[in-house]
Amino acid sequence: MSIDYNEHFKGCVDTIKSEGRYRIFATMERIAGRFPYANYYDANGHSKEVAIWCSNDYLGMGQHPKVLAAAKNAIDACGAGAGGTRNISGTTHYHVQLEQSVADLHQKEAGLVFSSGYVANEGALGTLGKLLPDCVMFSDEMNHASMIHGIKESKREKHIFRHNDVEHLEELLKSVDIKRPKIIAFESVYSMDGDIAPIKEILDLAEKYNALTYLDEVHGVGLYGARGGGVAEERGLMDRVDIIEGTFGKAYGSMGGFITGRASIIDAIRCYSSVFIFTTSLPPAVLAAAHAAVEHLKTSDVERFKQRKNVALFKDMLERSSLPFLRGESHIVPLIVGEPTCCKDVSDILMNEYNIYVQPINYPTVPKGTERLRLTASAAHSEEDVKYMANTLHDLWENNHALRAVA
Ligand SMILES: *Cc1c(COP(=O)(O)O)cnc(C)c1O
Repeated sequence: MSIDYNEHFKGCVDTIKSEGRYRIFATMERIAGRFPYANYYDANGHSKEVAIWCSNDYLGMGQHPKVLAAAKNAIDACGAGAGGTRNISGTTHYHVQLEQSVADLHQKEAGLVFSSGYVANEGALGTLGKLLPDCVMFSDEMNHASMIHGIKESKREKHIFRHNDVEHLEELLKSVDIKRPKIIAFESVYSMDGDIAPIKEILDLAEKYNALTYLDEVHGVGLYGARGGGVAEERGLMDRVDIIEGTFGKAYGSMGGFITGRASIIDAIRCYSSVFIFTTSLPPAVLAAAHAAVEHLKTSDVERFKQRKNVALFKDMLERSSLPFLRGESHIVPLIVGEPTCCKDVSDILMNEYNIYVQPINYPTVPKGTERLRLTASAAHSEEDVKYMANTLHDLWENNHALRAVA
């Protein structure tokens, strides 16, 4: 009998459903000027206003007047799309300007803009690995899917080191011929646990074993460092990292990804990376918005200060309520529920009864048994918003037997 395509694909989805990891997207309409508030649309199309507590628009730059004005001006000046790939009529003045802006941000010779942070990781790591003969890739076990994809794409030998474990990394480095080219790929802030890599120790090892370093600062750019250059800037280590990768989609409130580094490396990726070359380039409005945000945050501390104050207050209140959150160094607050159905239930209760939106994070994004709410206090939340959230969680955990049981 020949395959029934329809039944086959339904079966694939049924598998996901039976494992409790069928994803239901919450439909939101963010309210510019009033973020973190948004209109939430339920399955029947009814809407109500909710406060978002799981956004990556950490600094509220997605609604900053300068950012909105830059995007509108770009549309009025140049129209909607870029009109081509970077090579064939799709390189605008906005691309060039933004690439200079990120190179300056990280104090590197050159920058390159991609469609997204995901594509930047995939393209850069894949290309670097392929271009270096007999290269060996070293990757933190908690690295983002996009880095894993890029490393796979390189088709090189790879070694996975235990999360943030420099001793394990050294053991693996030692096991490989010192003369072979090597790349160490890691992140600064790990998004699901909110912890931060031992960047200095990893850079020391890279020097000792003559490896290139590739640092994903996606959750660091805009937020850390005097000019928003990330955790490596804050720790005075930026000049020792070979390639720094970031996104315009999180703290910069827009979209797109980028890498920065030595001109020789960036130019090679520009020439060889297929995901960079064979796709329509980002439109002027998106780039102008990103540029306005990056430049603003090089000199303004107001947003970083407000966000840090909110995060500190939030962590302090959760601590006093003895809630089971992971105490990482970063701004990300993962509140562990530990069971997928319960995690979804808490999220539903928050939405239905308290007008708070937090997406449950389940396997395979995080390991089974560590299902969680990943909470982000932004610069756009008010002190009242933070207190309301912390008090709500306190009451929920206090009064809900199921939650107490798993915690
Ligand atoms: C979100 C994320 C990316 C991808 O960035 P996008 O711009 O959203 O595609 C890459 N790395 C990490 C660690 C991320 O969390």
